Amino acid sequence: MTKVHNFSAGPAVLPQSAIDAGIEALKNFAGTNLSILEVSHRSKEYVAVMDEACSIVKELWSLDDSYDVVYLQGGASTQFLMVAYNLLNTKGAYVDTGTWSSKAIKEAQNFGEVDVVASSKDKGYTYIPKDIVAPSDADFLHYTSNNTIHGSQFHHIPETNVPLVCDMSSDIFSRRVDATKFDLIYAGAQKNLGPAGATLVVVKKDILGKVNRVIPTMLDYRTHIEKESMFNTPPVFAVFVVLQTLKWIKERGIDQIEVDNKAKAALLYDEIDRNAAFNGPVSKEDRSMMNATFLMTDPSREADFLNACKEANISGVKGHRSVGGFRASMYNALTLDSVQALVDVMKTFN
Ligand SMILES: *Cc1c(COP(=O)(O)O)cnc(C)c1O
Repeated sequence: MTKVHNFSAGPAVLPQSAIDAGIEALKNFAGTNLSILEVSHRSKEYVAVMDEACSIVKELWSLDDSYDVVYLQGGASTQFLMVAYNLLNTKGAYVDTGTWSSKAIKEAQNFGEVDVVASSKDKGYTYIPKDIVAPSDADFLHYTSNNTIHGSQFHHIPETNVPLVCDMSSDIFSRRVDATKFDLIYAGAQKNLGPAGATLVVVKKDILGKVNRVIPTMLDYRTHIEKESMFNTPPVFAVFVVLQTLKWIKERGIDQIEVDNKAKAALLYDEIDRNAAFNGPVSKEDRSMMNATFLMTDPSREADFLNACKEANISGVKGHRSVGGFRASMYNALTLDSVQALVDVMKTFN
C-alpha cells in the first residue's frame, strides 16, 4: 500500500499500532472469539478496557483521586453545553480565540451571564490574547488551548483564581501540561486520540453540584462519574481505540512526543517563512504546533499546489472552508517524513 501523508484536521491520523489493535479486536476481542462490536459493554473484558482507558489518563497526567475521568458521547460540541449546565450559576468567563470557543460561548449564553474576558476576533483570530483576567465572581474561566481552524495555540496556561476549564480537543497529550492547574478538561477523541464518537472528560469532583438548576441525568457529569462511564452504553469501539493510542503515548512518553511535535512544526514553519510563495497568517509566537495554517502569496496557484500535493500522496491540506488557504494538521501520529514530503512540494513552488 502506498503511504499517504495524512494531514487531515479530524478525524485524523492515528498510530498504526492502534489501528492494528482495532482490526484485531473487530475480529477477536480479548480472546473471546467474538468481535468487540458484539460483546456486552458490561463483560469483564470490556470493563477492563474502560477502567484502563480512565486510569491511564490519570497516570499520564499524574492526577490524584480528586479527579475523575469519563468517556462520553456527543463530541466536544456537547461539552460546550454540559460545561455551562453543570458549572454556570451566575457568570462564566470565556476567552474567544476562534470558531470553537465562539460556539462554546454561544451555548453558555443559554445558561446565564457570559463575560468574554479576552478575544482575538478583532484580527481574524490570528493571535492569542495575553493578560487574561477572569472576574473573581465568575464560576469558571473557559478557553480553547488549540484553535484547530485558525491555527493558533496557547503556549501558556492562563493564571486565574476561578476554576479553569479547557477544550483540549486538538492538542491533548501533544506536549507536557500541568493538568493539576485545571478543574475540567475535555477533548473530542477524533483529533489526537482515536475515532470519532468518544469524548474524554477529566473533572475535579469538588467543582460539581454547585448550580441551582435541575440537570438532565444524561447531561450531569455526576451520573457518568458514579456509573464509571457505564450509565448507558458507551462508545465501545471508540474507547477501545483511544486506549490503544494512550498506550502508544505512554510508551513513547509525552516528553518525546513534545520534542517530535516541535521538530515537525519547526520544519514546516521554517519553510513557510523562507518561501516567498507562502505566508502564515498567525502571529509567530502563537502558532499552533498541531494545525499550521498558511496562504499562498498568489492565490491563483492554489489549485496547482493542491494537485502537486495529491501527486506526492499528501492528503488533507486544504484549509477549513471558513478561512481558506491551507492547513497542515500535525497530530502526534504524523511522522516527520510526512512533513518533509509536504515541505519538498512547497519548495517546488518557490
Ligand atoms: C473539532 C473540535 C471541536 C468539535 O468537536 P466535535 O467532537 O466534532 O463536537 C471542538 N473544539 C475543538 C478545539 C475542536 O478542534
